[in-house]
This record gives sequence, C-alpha cells and structure tokens, in this order.
Amino acid sequence: MATDILISEVGLRDGLQSIDPVLPTERKKAWIAAQHAAGTREMEVGSFVPAKLIPQLADTAEVVRYATGLPGLCVAALVPNLHGLRDAVASGVHKITLPFSMSETHSIRNLRKTHAQVIEEIGRCVGYLDTLPGERRPKFEVSLSTAFGCTLEGEVPERRVIAYAEQVVELGADEVCLSDTTGYGNPAQLGRLVRGVREACGADRLDGVHLHNTRGQGLANALAAVELGITTLDSSLGGIGGCPWAPGASGNIVTEDLVFLLESMGLSTGIDLEALIEVRERVQAALPDVELYGFVPAAGLPLGFRPACDPSP
Ligand code: ZN
Repeated sequence: MATDILISEVGLRDGLQSIDPVLPTERKKAWIAAQHAAGTREMEVGSFVPAKLIPQLADTAEVVRYATGLPGLCVAALVPNLHGLRDAVASGVHKITLPFSMSETHSIRNLRKTHAQVIEEIGRCVGYLDTLPGERRPKFEVSLSTAFGCTLEGEVPERRVIAYAEQVVELGADEVCLSDTTGYGNPAQLGRLVRGVREACGADRLDGVHLHNTRGQGLANALAAVELGITTLDSSLGGIGGCPWAPGASGNIVTEDLVFLLESMGLSTGIDLEALIEVRERVQAALPDVELYGFVPAAGLPLGFRPACDPSP
C-alpha cells in the first residue's frame, strides 16, 4: 500500500551511537525485524566508521546484510568518507548518507575536514559510485547537518546552506537532506530553507528532513515540513540518542509521537502504532538503563483512535 509519509527510523544509528551500552548484534536484528513487521519501510541501521570511534556501531556491515533480507525495507547507513562508502557498498546497503556540516568549525571537529575537503571527498565518492553497475549503486544522499544553527558557531547563514546544496547536487549527489543536528530550527526557518534548496536544486532533490527535538520544536518542524511537501521524516524509536559531536544536542523526534501526529491527521505511514509501542517495550527491555522518551507511549492511544488507513467510518 502506498503511504503518504515515509518515516525513516534512525534509532539504530543516531540513537545507539549516543548511549554508552553496546546493543548486541542479535538484539539489533530483533529490533529491525520487529519494527519492519510493524510497518517501518526505511531504517538507518548504522555507520561505517572505525570501531574505535563508535564501538556501538562496529557491527554495521553484519546488521546491514541482515536487514537487506527483509522484504520492502530500504536499508540506509551513514558514511564519513570514501573509505566508509566502499565498505557500505560492499555490504549491499540501499542508501548511503554522507554528513556535510554547514558549520566549518563543526565539520572540522566532526569529520576532521574543512568545507573544501568535504566537497573533494563527495566528488571522490560520486566518482567511485559512477564505476558501479546500476543495480549495485546505492542512492547517495548528502545530509546538510547543522543547517539550522551550530552549538559552536551559532547562526548558520541560509544562503550558505542553499549554495552548498546546489554544489553537491551539481557534483552528483542524488539528494540532499536538511538536518537540524542541534535542535535550533523553527518552522519559518525550515520553510525558507526548503523553498530555497528546492529552487536552487530542483524539488526532486530534497524530500527528507532530519529533525531533533532538543528544544521541543521537533513535531512543529515536522508538521511544517509535511505542509511543504516533504515526504520523508527521520525519527528515533523512544527518541533515543542524539548527536555526540554537537554539545547540548540530544534526542531525535520520537517515532511513536510522529506516527501518532501523522496518522491522527489522516496521513498514512504504513506503521501500526500499537505494534510499534510493543517494539519500544522490547528495546527498553534490552536497554534497561537507557531513558526512552515520548508522550504517546506514556499516555496511551486515545479512546476511539483510528489510523489513517482505517476504512471504517
Ligand atoms: Zn541527528
């Protein structure tokens, strides 16, 4: 069934990289299988970085290989550079995201690269992808991180974000994603950025946003994005995690709350909310000392709640 909005679950990457306990590989597989069964159709399951940098994600290749066996699931992973991208391609991943921080200070701390060096790396990545036969070439997305502001630099000029979006699309990235790494964003700013990037790059180059709820604006921003025609929203089960490289940033949008917002408005996500809340309980049991967030799981579904796909009157 076609859905209105694709929810991309990033808890296994953005969430798990930000907490101390290392979730065993078998538990990750169980989480992915359960959330796939609940209707999730895109999951970012890890990051191809050296295990010594993020030991929580050291098993990403194995997790990707497992997840690609689930029917209809788009399996995504993050890479910091060409080396990671080659490993990601070898694993058979469907979608690769390379983060490009719009704050150069954040970029140097995060990827240890200046803006000019990131642009060069993106060019090398596209060059490598272009050598692959079509069926082995994953979708390549550049995530414009800290696009809404940076904990190190403060304001990030919108014209800079739009100019870099245009440049990476010209270099051959399939898509860009606007990423509020630090939770600085507001709906008006999101509107200006979405319209600006689409005008510069073409509407089909931007269909996803990655929002954090650091200041409680996550769902307001998500709704603004949907009203602008954005069709892919990143979120994290239980709001687990955040960005360890951006001091003060914690917590993606909570997937359960986002599904409730959309489904109650009549926008289908394909996700069974009750089944999703059961997945959350399993993940909580596997990570008993980690705090999970979310209003809907705490309050329960309203009496008479009907999901968007429910045909009954
Ligand atoms: Zn994030």
